[in-house]
Amino acid sequence: MKILVINCGSSSLKYQLLDMEGEKLLAKGLCERIGIDGHLTHKPQNGKPVFNEDVAMPTHTEAIAAVLDKLTSEEYGVVKSMREIGAVGHRVVHGGEKFANSVLINDEVMAAIAECIPLAPLHNPANITGINACKAVMGDVPQVAVFDTAFHQTMPGKAFMYPIPYSYYTDLKVRRYGFHGTSHRYVSKRAAEMMGKPIEELKLISCHMGNGSSICAIDHGKSVDTSMGFTPIAGLPMGTRCGDIDVSILEYLSANTGKDIKELTNILNKMSGVLGVSGVSSDFRDLDTAAAQGNERAKLALDMFHYAVAKTVGSYVAAMNGVDGIIFTAGIGENSADTRAEICKYLTYLGIEICPECNKKRGEDTFISTENSRVKVMVIPTNEELVIARDTRDIVEG
Ligand code: ADP
Repeated sequence: MKILVINCGSSSLKYQLLDMEGEKLLAKGLCERIGIDGHLTHKPQNGKPVFNEDVAMPTHTEAIAAVLDKLTSEEYGVVKSMREIGAVGHRVVHGGEKFANSVLINDEVMAAIAECIPLAPLHNPANITGINACKAVMGDVPQVAVFDTAFHQTMPGKAFMYPIPYSYYTDLKVRRYGFHGTSHRYVSKRAAEMMGKPIEELKLISCHMGNGSSICAIDHGKSVDTSMGFTPIAGLPMGTRCGDIDVSILEYLSANTGKDIKELTNILNKMSGVLGVSGVSSDFRDLDTAAAQGNERAKLALDMFHYAVAKTVGSYVAAMNGVDGIIFTAGIGENSADTRAEICKYLTYLGIEICPECNKKRGEDTFISTENSRVKVMVIPTNEELVIARDTRDIVEG
């Protein structure tokens, strides 16, 4: 079965077409500036040329139509007809407490995704738009929703509840949901395979470190705690997001800057994190360069990040009363050997020993700990699209 994986944002749409026979990537691409003007980058994986041009995309429906046009075209195509695509899998950000697993999309599911809009006002509407656009262009092809939050629905109350009046949970659904669930699920399963043990026998900690970063404690295959919270702003300092801060800072800043909560929340989301501290960039490559040139604030921002990751890992060792393996993934986790080494310097008390040579490898699943290391440390490139495609196939094939 060939499966189209869609990750739809408010003005963008990322896609991959996979052949599940051999789990082969056939093509991938990105629609940008949807609703503004429109640009399509389409990369067939069969040796045909890349398409990289402006295409009018007044709505997501035209974007999907353009993608299907390229996927089936003589010059850029990888399939003969749309009918070869057996199903579509969508990344959906928020499934609230309704969805602990991926589901086949029907009217009831659409209503439930819409119900979660107040919890993810930027993301869920875009996901709904993407699903409707596929329906408009592809008709009755089965569509599956894979939620970022679903993997974390196994967290116990002691981990997901906030210590605030209980009615805010029951009436307004305020709780920790956690995100990046598809990534944490993928890398933890891969880690168990690499370690040659059933995941049900392992205590793992997954560090997804990209523009957005979150850490997850995975006890016997189940997420038992994670660092993002009610929204993805919580937990670690990130590229532009502040992570955990004292909530009273909002009132104090409002009183002293005249900015309202909305403006300040925007600053905490978009102008904080390592960008806010360094004043240099949200990109860790730029920070590495600046720190190497002696920029103290860039160095401070990096130190704060390493420290926050190490503290969170330590707290999850306590939460699970042990740890067998630690995983690094996503843009920073997969590419920055220095970041991994700096974080692991805090963790020698766990008996962790890093092999500097192994830590230099890139782009492949690898152990970066030594044979003797009491806790195994791994780098595992994440593959959320593959998880979405696998879930979609499993659900559609029943
Ligand atoms: P997203 O959360 O948007 O999916 P990614 O997982 O792609 O992000 O991570 C993007 C981030 O990865 C970049 O902002 C950059 O900071 C970081 N990154 C990528 N390559 C490197 C590298 N070689 N060294 C350090 N950081 C890197």
